[in-house]
Amino acid sequence: MADSSVADVDAQALLDEANSTTGNEGEPKFTLELNQDQKDIREWVHGFAEGVVRPAAEEWDEREETPWPVIQEAAKIGLYSFEAVGQFWADETGLTLPIANEELFWGDAGIGMAIMGTTLAVAAIFGQGTPEQMGEWIPQCFGDADDVKLGAFCASEPDAGSDVSGIRTSAKYDETKDEWVLNGQKAWATNGGIANVHVIIASVDRELGSRGHAAFVIPPNTPGCEQGAKVKKHGLRASHTADVHLDDCRIPGSCLLGGKEKLDERLARVREGKKAKSQAAMQTFEASRPTVGAQALGIARAAYEYALDYAKEREQFGRKIVENQSIAFDLANMKLEIDAARLLVWRAAWMGRQGHKFENAEGSMSKLKAGEVAVWVTERAIQILGGNGYTREFPVERMHRDSKIYTIFEGTSEIQRLVISRAISGLHIK
Ligand SMILES: Cc1cc2nc3c(=O)[nH]c(=O)nc-3n(C[C@H](O)[C@H](O)[C@H](O)COP(=O)(O)OP(=O)(O)OC[C@H]3O[C@@H](n4cnc5c(N)ncnc54)[C@H](O)[C@@H]3O)c2cc1C
Repeated sequence: MADSSVADVDAQALLDEANSTTGNEGEPKFTLELNQDQKDIREWVHGFAEGVVRPAAEEWDEREETPWPVIQEAAKIGLYSFEAVGQFWADETGLTLPIANEELFWGDAGIGMAIMGTTLAVAAIFGQGTPEQMGEWIPQCFGDADDVKLGAFCASEPDAGSDVSGIRTSAKYDETKDEWVLNGQKAWATNGGIANVHVIIASVDRELGSRGHAAFVIPPNTPGCEQGAKVKKHGLRASHTADVHLDDCRIPGSCLLGGKEKLDERLARVREGKKAKSQAAMQTFEASRPTVGAQALGIARAAYEYALDYAKEREQFGRKIVENQSIAFDLANMKLEIDAARLLVWRAAWMGRQGHKFENAEGSMSKLKAGEVAVWVTERAIQILGGNGYTREFPVERMHRDSKIYTIFEGTSEIQRLVISRAISGLHIK
């Protein structure tokens, strides 16, 4: 006969376990069900992507220019504004930001980046600035619907891409005037030179490598901060990319993000051989990787949906091409990979928002997977459309061109694998 006390304990343990999956007010602790706010924002951004962004995509890709009128439309409905970004960020689950990005980039990635490129500068100010600096500079990154402005985040240089420790742009403090003097050249800056506010990663002590970096805000129209060559690109062509030159560019002492006291403390720790808490550029990239992954997902989903519809229409050999297993299985795999990538993106976004450390480089995993899925899915979409897929009459070739940057910027796929392998092994893999 069973021992009744053991049976009671087991029943209690089961009950406790069941209860542990519900929160204080009976809310489930784990759910993939989006709440009403998230659904509303998804629908709102999707509506804009479908009604305004998609119809403009081909034109701005061909023109290879910043689509100011579309950004202005986004500002008019409040989508391009610090309030919207604040609202997306405020979601405690962390999911609203990737959801909004996926929808917008589903519309078009070039225009999507023209609208969202500013958020990289915002993320740097938000992540490293004091509350006063956030209040002063973040709104100036957006302007308003009548006078739209942009922000730019400038870390990369001609000789410092993957290896940010190679940054040569210098920032020297002029104590007599309480000013910083910046000199150097930044490369491939999204919105570089056309932004109202530039955030510049510069070295205050070259000997310390990336631990000697700091982030600075360049206020609008500061002399000595000029656009260099504009880059002609394979994809994302509606988004402006250019060099930025800093030539004895003087900015007030207050433009050092986080303030001088904090920087001096950090540098002192590093010089004593202690670990610095963070590196200026890395901190921004870590926080933004799941969001960038979500953008890649938007492109992948758009190409998948287009290819699915096409395969259900197009007939060869007297049947719809989707009736061939090879096409249908490709589409099944495309859907599978997109959904798997989204789970990684949502996990990283959730972890980031909860303040969980990325012990296994979950942020990098999300961006790596989503970027590679986007390249693969868009290439398959071209294949499914055949000759049409290869022409500019159909959007999947543009989506494929747009997708490729997602294995390159914000850390190449190789660098993401490096970050992940170091995290899981605890070794300094080279
Ligand atoms: C459209 C566009 C927009 C951009 N926007 C911005 C922006 O707003 N702000 C900004 O700061 N930067 C921006 N960038 C720059 C981007 O982040 C860099 O291009 C990227 O980090 C790669 O650097 P790189 O081009 O110098 O390549 P490199 O670092 O020269 O890499 C070349 C190749 O070598 C590989 N490689 C390098 N090191 C290693 C290693 N240790 N192990 C294995 N493989 C390695 C890389 O993976 C890559 O395949 C943008 C770039 C583009 C094209």
